[in-house]
Amino acid sequence: MGLDPDLSFILATTMVAVLGTAGLVVLHAYRRSRRDRQRLFTWRQKQALLIRAGHRCEHKPLLGRRCRATSRLQADHIVPWSRGGPTETWNGQVLCRRHNRSKSNLVPGPLYRWRLERQRRRYRPRPLRPTTKEIPT
Ligand SMILES: [Zn+2]
Repeated sequence: MGLDPDLSFILATTMVAVLGTAGLVVLHAYRRSRRDRQRLFTWRQKQALLIRAGHRCEHKPLLGRRCRATSRLQADHIVPWSRGGPTETWNGQVLCRRHNRSKSNLVPGPLYRWRLERQRRRYRPRPLRPTTKEIPT
């Protein structure tokens, strides 16, 4: 006695769907457990990132010049925190709001990191801007 071919097809696809969903749930839980407990960069880490970046957005298209934005800068995880990227300065970069939004939670490839490291060697240090308004004397 065999099963109806239609019924066995339905059973097989249901099994695949159930196992696939279970796999995704386990994968999600695993990724969550691997996240860094610290979600945001500390003030000190942000200062270190800003100094390294010369207080300027680090976005540079493959063919083109580095972004010139020096305001509304944000500390960004190169490997996104949501994908297990640690909140440490080696995994940080400075991006303007626009470029941080366009990057979203994409994981850049090894070429990106290599280009960024090379690019950083060419940064010119910029004097720190005063944080408080200077009082005219
Ligand atoms: Zn930018």
